[in-house]
Amino acid sequence: MTLAIIHTRAGLGLEAPEVLVEVHLANGLPGMTLVGLPEAAVKESRERVRSALVNAGFDFPLRRITLNLAPADLPKEGGRFDLPIALGLLVASGQVPPEALAGVECAGELALDGRLRPVTGVLPLAMATRRAGRRLIVPLANADEAALAGDLEVLPADHLLEVVAHLLGQASISPHRAPVAVLTPEAGPDLAEVRGQHQARRALEVAAAGGHNLLFAGPPGTGKTMLASRLPGILPPLSEEEALEVAAIRSVSGLSHTEQWGVRPFRAPHHTASAVALVGGGSKPRPGEISLAHHGVLFLDELPEFSRHVLEVMREPMESGQIHIARASHERRYPAGFQLVAAMNPCPCGHLGDPRQACHCTAAQIQRYQARLSGPLLDRIDLQVEVPALAPEQLTSRQAGESSAVVRERVLAARARQASRGALNARLAGQALEEACALQAADRAWLAGVLERLKLSARAYHRVLRVALTLADLAGETRPGRDQLIEAIGYRQLDRLLKG
Ligand SMILES: [Zn+2]
Repeated sequence: MTLAIIHTRAGLGLEAPEVLVEVHLANGLPGMTLVGLPEAAVKESRERVRSALVNAGFDFPLRRITLNLAPADLPKEGGRFDLPIALGLLVASGQVPPEALAGVECAGELALDGRLRPVTGVLPLAMATRRAGRRLIVPLANADEAALAGDLEVLPADHLLEVVAHLLGQASISPHRAPVAVLTPEAGPDLAEVRGQHQARRALEVAAAGGHNLLFAGPPGTGKTMLASRLPGILPPLSEEEALEVAAIRSVSGLSHTEQWGVRPFRAPHHTASAVALVGGGSKPRPGEISLAHHGVLFLDELPEFSRHVLEVMREPMESGQIHIARASHERRYPAGFQLVAAMNPCPCGHLGDPRQACHCTAAQIQRYQARLSGPLLDRIDLQVEVPALAPEQLTSRQAGESSAVVRERVLAARARQASRGALNARLAGQALEEACALQAADRAWLAGVLERLKLSARAYHRVLRVALTLADLAGETRPGRDQLIEAIGYRQLDRLLKG
């Protein structure tokens, strides 16, 4: 045997396409050639593998070695190919029988002494190995993550010697048991801690029930961030499938997966964040904040301070729920189905309309500040709510608000009504929206009159309908009536604030 083939996988976004590591030994001047589009870190693999094999006491074949990573057109990154290359050399040189690797995939970086180091993106790799019906050898530090993939035999090892002893039948590695997966929405902060702010709390509940994007406007220190961070806790618990998707995105980002398992994401990037940090990209394309917020909440505090360019690049993924990152060789696609909560001060100093403190901004300053909000982005925010400064007696009130668990029950009931329509209300538009609302003729005429007086656009009309439908779902009504329409029009406060 002078040819060996080992099964492993590349990382391409959230996909893990199969890669065959082919090792061929030939007579000739000793040396090692690596072909098949390897990137720098993979090229260094040669040196790591050579040292690891020698230091672990194996024979390093003194022949002409050709390593091929196939298919050649897949980009290959990182140290994950070290272990398959080392095992390929051991098989090709007769130190491990080829049968031992039948039905096995492996990945892992090698230290110079033969220890196995963890690699990123193990969860998508493990899910693909499970679908292929093979067993998976991974570094011990990756075992918990790999085991999240479910019905898969995960064989963890800390050292190359353990792997070889297992393959030779000298000392078996026991399959790794998954840590008990607990899906708990109770882990996060609770709404009971928010004092006062009844209208903002109500808007948060409506946002959760219909999947609507939400903008809080108000002076600093009124609890906008506190409110936003409680949205994940009143959303339905993640399904197993959603939790896996969230964990897979964290996995390819090199973030911890197990401690956040089952928790809806809440991401709050700073307003100085770059477009790449927000939507993803870079020379080795990584997911951005909008993907890390998938199935969860993206919170943009001080929205007018974000650069216009950064907000512009968010528009397309907000429509499609995913982001395409084009690279010369391959396109990566990451999911980005997040719910947006934004917050802003009403003016540069923050105190416009604040009874506690006077605003000293000029009219021109205020206009410039508010004009920074892009119209197309605002069009995608159904709920705009003022969060006023609290009166002192409200701040010191000991009366706790409703808990997240109580609010979540109502959200779940409202979402159950939407399930029969096939989409969350925030996603309804045009004819489907009109049909779902089925307004009575009198209400329709009344609404047309109000919109006319308020000079609201056709887009604004649809936002009012979407929100009114969610209010009807929360009230257990079959369609929005006058009460729901009036409340829905009230969630256009930014328009009023901007005008006056
Ligand atoms: Zn001001």
